[in-house]
Amino acid sequence: MLKVQKPVIVVHGGAGTWHPERSQPGLEGVKEAAKVGFEILKNGGAAVDAVMEAVAVMEDEGAFNAGYGSSLNIEKGVEMEASIMDGKTLKAGATGLLKDIKNPVRLARIVMEKTDHVFVVGEGAEKLAKMFNLERRQPLTELRLKYYERQKKLLLEGKFELPKLASLVKEHQEFFELETVGAVALDKNGNVAAATSTGGFPLKIPGRIGDSPLIGCGTYADNQSGACSATGVGEIAIRLVLAKTVCNLMESGRTAQEAVEQAIKLVNKRINDVYNSMGLIAVDIHGRIGAAHNSPNLCWAYLTPKKPEPTASLTAKIVKESD
Ligand code: ASP
Repeated sequence: MLKVQKPVIVVHGGAGTWHPERSQPGLEGVKEAAKVGFEILKNGGAAVDAVMEAVAVMEDEGAFNAGYGSSLNIEKGVEMEASIMDGKTLKAGATGLLKDIKNPVRLARIVMEKTDHVFVVGEGAEKLAKMFNLERRQPLTELRLKYYERQKKLLLEGKFELPKLASLVKEHQEFFELETVGAVALDKNGNVAAATSTGGFPLKIPGRIGDSPLIGCGTYADNQSGACSATGVGEIAIRLVLAKTVCNLMESGRTAQEAVEQAIKLVNKRINDVYNSMGLIAVDIHGRIGAAHNSPNLCWAYLTPKKPEPTASLTAKIVKESD
C-alpha cells in the first residue's frame, strides 16, 4: 500500500519566459504563496482554503498576471478571471470579465459557495462582489502599461490582423509573458483542491475568456484523482480540456508527474497551428507532485512534509517530445 504524503501544496506563477530582472519577485512571490497555503494545511485547514489564500497572495503581489498587475487587453483595459474547485464535493466556482476586484479568486469562491451557479461574469459578478463587500483595487501597474505599449507597437508594425498575433508572440516571447497564477493542494483529510487566476492573454480582445476560469480546462480537482492548474495559451488548454485530462491520467494510475508530462506530450502532438506554450502543476491523491511545461519557463514552488521550506524554480520538467 502506497504511503500518502500530506499535506502538500504546489503553486505556479505562470509559464512563458521569465526575464532575469523580474525573476526574483516571481520566485519570492511563489515561495510566499506556497508558505501561506502550507501553513493553513499544517494547522489542519482545508485544501480549498489553502489554494485560495495562496492564489490571493500572488494576486496581491504585482509581479504576476493576476489581480494587481494583470495584463491589458487590446483596448488597454483589464478583464480578470479566476476559478476554484473543491475535490471533495466537486463544487466549483468561476468568474470573469472583472475590472477592479482585488482578489478574483475570492469571488470565484463566493460563486461556488453562495450561488447555485458555477460561472458568473461581468456585471453580475460585480454585483455579487458588492453584495459580499469584496475589496476593490485598480489592477493597472506601470510595468503592464509599458508592456502594453511595446506589444501594441509590435502588433501594429505592418501586422494589423489579429491572426498574426501567434507569429508575433513566437518572435517576441519576451513581451508576452504568461504569468497566470495557480495552486493545487492535498490536505490532512485527503481532500484536494485547485485554483487559478489571471488577467488573461496580453492583447486579447475584450470579452475573451481563457482557460483559467473554465473548469476542466485551467482548473480541476477530484478526490478520486488529484488536482491540476494550467498556465499558458488558454485556447490550447480549452481545446484539450487539459486540467481534466491530467486528472483522468492520475485516476488511471499515473503519478502526478507522469500525468503532467503526458498531457504536455499530448499538447505537442495535437496542437501545432498556434503559438504553443503550456505549463501544468498537479498533485495526486497520494501527495505526489507534478510540474511540466513546453514553455521556456514555469515559475513554481512547493511544500511537503519532507520539504518544510519552499522549493522554488523558474523551470520544471521541460517536455518537447510528443510521445
Ligand atoms: N492561460 C492564460 C490565458 O490564456 C494565460 C496564462 O497562463 O498566463 O488566459
